[in-house]
Order: sequence, then structure tokens, then C-alpha cells
Amino acid sequence: MSRKPVVALVGRPNVGKSTLFNRLTKSRDAIVADYPGLTRDRQYGTGKVGKYPYIVVDTGGLSGEEAGVNPLMEQQVIAALEEADVILFLVDGQAGLTPADEQIAAMLRQKFAHKPIYVLVNKAEGRDPDVVKAEFYQLGLGEPLVISAEHGDHVREAIDYILEIVAPKADEDEAPEPDDDSGIRVAVVGRPNVGKSTLINRMIGEERVVAYDMPGTTRDSIRVPFERDGVKYTLIDTAGVRRRKKVYDKIEKFSVIKAIEAMDQAHVVVLVIDGSEGITDQDQTLLGHALESGRGLIIAINKWDNLDPDQRRQVKADLDLKLQFADFAPRHFISALHGTGVGNLFDMIRQVYKAATTRVSTSELNRVLQQALLEHQPPMVSGRRIKMRYAHLGGINPPTVVIHGNMVDRVPQHYTRYLTNVFRKAFGWEGTPVKIEYRVTD
Ligand code: GDP
Ligand code: GDP
Repeated sequence: MSRKPVVALVGRPNVGKSTLFNRLTKSRDAIVADYPGLTRDRQYGTGKVGKYPYIVVDTGGLSGEEAGVNPLMEQQVIAALEEADVILFLVDGQAGLTPADEQIAAMLRQKFAHKPIYVLVNKAEGRDPDVVKAEFYQLGLGEPLVISAEHGDHVREAIDYILEIVAPKADEDEAPEPDDDSGIRVAVVGRPNVGKSTLINRMIGEERVVAYDMPGTTRDSIRVPFERDGVKYTLIDTAGVRRRKKVYDKIEKFSVIKAIEAMDQAHVVVLVIDGSEGITDQDQTLLGHALESGRGLIIAINKWDNLDPDQRRQVKADLDLKLQFADFAPRHFISALHGTGVGNLFDMIRQVYKAATTRVSTSELNRVLQQALLEHQPPMVSGRRIKMRYAHLGGINPPTVVIHGNMVDRVPQHYTRYLTNVFRKAFGWEGTPVKIEYRVTD
């Protein structure tokens, strides 16, 4: 349950931030490739190119002009940098050092001196690193690292080098906690005002709260362990219900990072949507992150009490349209305010947890695979038939099926979807994404 370091990319436009972002989040493509129609969040992502997993944020461009030219943009970038554990300042090795780079460096030195900052000199493919980086020492931010985001040169080394220093520190922030004692970990996420706090209060009920930890920083979610009907749960509260009561009544800023972290640490995610507002872009963004997390997923459509039958029909149609790529996730209509449907939510959480974490045997897995192959054989590619030999369970939460065979690196998406559905049905993997990985064994 340790926290992943948050890596923020900053720099002027066109230095290669989004190219680097894509490279750093590429390992996740495999999971989300199965969801056509899902718009990826191009600002926040998770990934692992080397030894350490991380969360990466593209802060967008900073013009580097005099402060005040574009205050709103600058504010947003600064807010994103404040959430970071480490800042990667990208510059363009082909363009060389520019006044805008110097402005940004000055801002970073002034505002973020307490955070680790690294200068990454990009677009350096095919050039002598010592020559490329020489002029960037002037930025006063230490030794520049030389990479090519587009070609991938030295990206992995640079990230490993940086996280080697930063990652253990991010771990220490977390109080050691025996994993086995937290029961079913449930992340309650959603955009502001959808009713997360109301729902959490309904779910825990004062008397059931055993204890809770108060995190040191506002970025951390609060964990609330409790028991219900003899089952242990830990709610991961991104709304800050407990803190709000204890300290002062302040509406907290919505943080995508907080939501990503909460989902990362959970077994099951409850994504709360405000039914009376329909499905917004921000809901879809969060859904995308929930899918990336690979966790069990329940979509709770709240404030159902507020809607007449006509509006309810409309919302349901909207859900079918906009959330079709998450059709494995049960939809649950609730009123957190009145408590309607909240009891059933617990049944659903237990079912989804079980589906997401139950191990199936290798022989069962292979029996189902062979049957699926018989019913629909894999397609031909380049005149040869893809051959799947055997499967093993690669992991749980999400259930991951590893299939070995010839040319399995070329299985088309529709066939993977077919297999996913077969496994889902056979093993009752409802409410959880199912991941299929292929290993070529020619
Ligand atoms: P951003 O505005 O900082 O996000 O920059 P982009 O990632 O959009 O990249 C700007 C341009 O630089 C694009 O045309 C990229 O293809 C190009 N680019 C990015 N990384 C490299 C690199 O490592 N080498 C070269 N030669 N071009 C790159
Ligand atoms: P959060 O920001 O997601 O934690 O949202 P809150 O729990 O603070 O709720 C935002 C507002 O929605 C409050 O005024 C709640 O009383 C209201 N609310 C929450 N759940 C419901 C519900 O089920 N029905 C109705 N009508 N209002 C609700």
C-alpha cells in the first residue's frame, strides 16, 4: 500500500513534455486498449518504465514570460507542481537554452527550492551528451540529464536514477500498516459535490468507526477502518469527511492525484456520480483512471431521490451511451442523503471484492481456454493461424490471464475481447476488469 511518487513534467511549449508523458505511461496502454471509446486523460497517468512505479503529471506549457501575462495558466501549473514529489524540468537540446527556460528556472528555484528538481535535456538523440548539456548548467538546478523522449534514449536510466533518490522517501511518509488487517479496502471517489461525504457517513455510521489516522498532508486520503456484519472494511476517503469535522469546514480542492492514489490502494472503487447532473467529462476522466487502476469497480449513481421517472430514464440512457466501455461495472442507484440503496452497496462491494481477488486453478483456466478456442478459433495473420497453447493465472485484482502460444503478440483486439468475456462468464469475474497478457513461445 505504499504511495507512488508523483512526478511532474514542466517546461515551455514544444520541448517534448507530452511525448515524454506518453512514453512514461505506455506500459498502461495494454490495460486500457480493451476499452474502445475511452478518452485517455492526457494530463495524469501512471506507469513504470524501470524499477519504480510512479504517477506522472504533464503540467502543460509554461510560457516563461513575465509573471502575470497568463496568470491563470501559471496558477494551474503551480498547483500541479505543489502536488509533486519531484519536478522534471524539460528543455530542448536542439533549440538550446532560451530566455523562457531561464524564467521558468528562476520561478522553480524561488517557489520549489524544497523539492527535488531535475533538468532533462530532450531531443538529444545522436548527439554528444556532454556537449548538449553544457549550457544548461547555467539554470542553476544541478547536473542536467540528457534524453530523447521520442526515441526513448536514456529515459529509463534517467527515471531510475531520479526515483532511486525520491521513491524511498515517498514510502516513508506512510505509516507501516499490516495489509491483512485492513479488510476490504474501498476507495470512494468522485468529483466535488456528488455526495461522497454524505455516502461515507452513511456507510460507516458513527458507532462502527474503530479508529482513523490523520494524515500529515492535505494530499493524502483518510483511511477509516470499520466493521459491518462481521466483515472488515477500510474506506479510503478522498472527500476528507473526518478532517472537515475535526479541523475546519473547508471545501477541499479536487485532486485527480488523490483519486488516483486512493484507487491504487483499494481493492474496490466506488465511483460516485451525481445523477441529477448527468455524466460529465470529469466523471469520465475518473472512470478512465479507475479502469487504469485495474481495481474492482462499482458505479454509484447518487441523488436518485432528486429525479422523476422521466429523468431517471434519461440518466440511464446517458449511462449506456457514455459508460459503455465499463459495462462490466455494476451500476447502483442510491440516495446517500436518505440511505436508500446503501445497504445493498455493501453486498455489491463484497461480491466485487470476491470476484476480483479469487484465484482460479490452472487446470480450470485451461479447460475454459480450450473450450473457447474450440468454439471460435483464433484468426489467421499473414497466412498462419495464431496458436494458443496454455494459460496460467498471472495475478488477481485485476484477474490476469497469461496465455502462451505462437504469434500471440498479434492477436487482434476483438479476439481478446471475446476471450475476456468467456473468462468473465466462466469464473464470475463480474465488476472487475479482466486483463489478458500474451507470451510468445515459438
Ligand atoms: P510539449 O508541448 O512540451 O508537450 O511537446 P511535444 O511532446 O508536443 O513535442 C513537441 C515536438 O517535439 C513534437 O513535434 C515532437 O515530435 C518533438 N519531440 C519530442 N521529443 C523529441 C525528441 O526526443 N527528439 C526530437 N527530435 N523531437 C522530439
Ligand atoms: P462531496 O463533495 O462529494 O463529499 O459531496 P457532499 O457529500 O458534501 O454532498 C454535496 C451536496 O449534495 C450536499 O448538499 C448534500 O446534502 C447533497 N447530497 C448528497 N447526497 C445526496 C442525495 O442522495 N440526494 C440529494 N438530494 N442530495 C444529496
